[in-house]
Amino acid sequence: MKKYNGHKISQVMPGSIAEELNIEPGDFLLKINDEIIEDIFDFQYMVQEDHLDILIRKADGEEWLLDIDKDFDEELGIEFENGLMDDYRSCSNKCIFCFIDQMPKGMRETLYFKDDDSRLSFLQGNYVTLTNMSDKDIDRILKYHLSPINVSFQTTNPELRCKMLGNRFAGEALKKVDRLCAPGTGIEINGQIVLCKGVNDGDELERSISDLTKYIPNLQSVSVVPVGLSKYRDGLYPLEPFDSEDAKKVIDEIESWQKKIYAEHGIHFIHASDEWYFLAGRPFPEEERYDGYIQLENGVGMMRLLINEFDEAVEDIKQRYGDKLKDFKQEISIATGRLVYPCIKELADKVSEISPGIKIHVYEIINEFFGERITVSGLLTGQDIIKQLKGRELGQELFLPENLLRSGEDYLLDDVTIGDISKALEVPVGISKCDGHYLAAILFGVEPE
Ligand code: SF4
Repeated sequence: MKKYNGHKISQVMPGSIAEELNIEPGDFLLKINDEIIEDIFDFQYMVQEDHLDILIRKADGEEWLLDIDKDFDEELGIEFENGLMDDYRSCSNKCIFCFIDQMPKGMRETLYFKDDDSRLSFLQGNYVTLTNMSDKDIDRILKYHLSPINVSFQTTNPELRCKMLGNRFAGEALKKVDRLCAPGTGIEINGQIVLCKGVNDGDELERSISDLTKYIPNLQSVSVVPVGLSKYRDGLYPLEPFDSEDAKKVIDEIESWQKKIYAEHGIHFIHASDEWYFLAGRPFPEEERYDGYIQLENGVGMMRLLINEFDEAVEDIKQRYGDKLKDFKQEISIATGRLVYPCIKELADKVSEISPGIKIHVYEIINEFFGERITVSGLLTGQDIIKQLKGRELGQELFLPENLLRSGEDYLLDDVTIGDISKALEVPVGISKCDGHYLAAILFGVEPE
């Protein structure tokens, strides 16, 4: 068993209880109310008391026992060196569709880390398979009322789940959902199905959707996303890409379930990700069908939201600038993945129709790094962008979508920075938020509202 050394404090918030008590960065939190703290969940739960005895070890080794009276929900004002306050749990699966297995060698080491840690589900919204979650973990989720939790189902057929996840306990692990969704737990779950052609689609998808409806209302939504296939699949399970006809079938299946489920439960529950609509060449569903955009992070409804926000923003800009819009002038460029290119092009054309002096070059970037079948903007690399835009007309500024960057970072998946792109293409590079208001403002060259 790992030796318990407490948790190193990295930050103390100005004006906080911790600062008043002279707790400093570098100190270690050892115990709260005489109990050791396993991880961030223990900590968050334990500090919700109005009386706390906190044991701190100072940098010189001296131990302080601090007696604190505070409001129930008042924070202590400390942050820890390790946000999870524990080691990250890696996954115990070998999924046939795992994207990490399809990445080329030589990328940044952290990109190869396979996490499957339920704590990251609450903290960062990661999807977990439940295969390495113990009964004790479930007890804690129920006790601490940790919710929502995001679960990667793939299928409810136990044997098929074992095969897809490459884990003989993966079918059994589904039983944990029964505990989480038992009457009165109040735990909310969002689910995901990564669809693999000829594996968990068709009748298997029917079965999964039907089985999963029994968990409503705890299970609030399930998204169905197509498997991502890079060009690095040598030696991996043979998976085929979905084509337009497949996408139409998947959408029809999902939309027919939506009608049934809505009539019974008042929610649409099962959602096809935007990719299916692009692939099928069909318009995106109306806003109401996304149940408050509950699966936005999973690429469900992003385009509907973007289009609606954009149209709203254009009306607003027309009101603000009226006839002056005819005289607006600028020449800019936008680079996107192939998937969203037609949609962004259509929005850019709308702007040029209103303001003929505005010239917008929209470029679709083919993903040579991972292979052409990867069409989402979020997996584009700096080297592809530079190579494909070199010598093209870029105007006064090039805009790239913000989902190319991991939050708070300024480099892309291949470690090329925004500065590198700007230097190589000799143009200022701006980042466009995935937000229709922001996009409209950029295209018209006005301040976002
Ligand atoms: S759970 Fe499956 S898809 Fe996720 S990291 Fe592990 S092997 Fe890959």
